Amino acid sequence: MIRGWQALGLLLGILAASCGDGGPLTFALSEAFTPDEREQARLAIEDWRPHSLTTLALVEPGEAASWSIELTVDVSGSCDGTSRTIRVARGGVEWMRYAFGHEVGHAMGLGDLEGVHATMAPYKGDVGLTEADLTECRRVGSCR
Ligand SMILES: [Zn+2]
Repeated sequence: MIRGWQALGLLLGILAASCGDGGPLTFALSEAFTPDEREQARLAIEDWRPHSLTTLALVEPGEAASWSIELTVDVSGSCDGTSRTIRVARGGVEWMRYAFGHEVGHAMGLGDLEGVHATMAPYKGDVGLTEADLTECRRVGSCR
């Protein structure tokens, strides 16, 4: 029998394994995003870049990328390790910055951080990285 905490550990392990692969991470935004939303994605990637052990870059539309970021209406944001697709729902400026930063964190292999102030907090996390984000990022081996 698998007890609750064992199932949770298994789930987090799968999430981390499926979303991050340690290689250079390039992100291509769908054409559906506005220039302002594209700017929030750029800023979110800039937040991670000084700390990341791997290359992080937002590519120009039409360029090849390791991850595509799609606009969606029905989920708040998710990363699908199989198709290397991140889905982000449209919201205000702060929401977009948080959602991009959060999903880029998943692409780097980080899990959700419950009960702390962090970009990796689920649902409504912080804009900009906190010490909790960086501690988790170092723990999974993605940050210096
Ligand atoms: Zn998450």
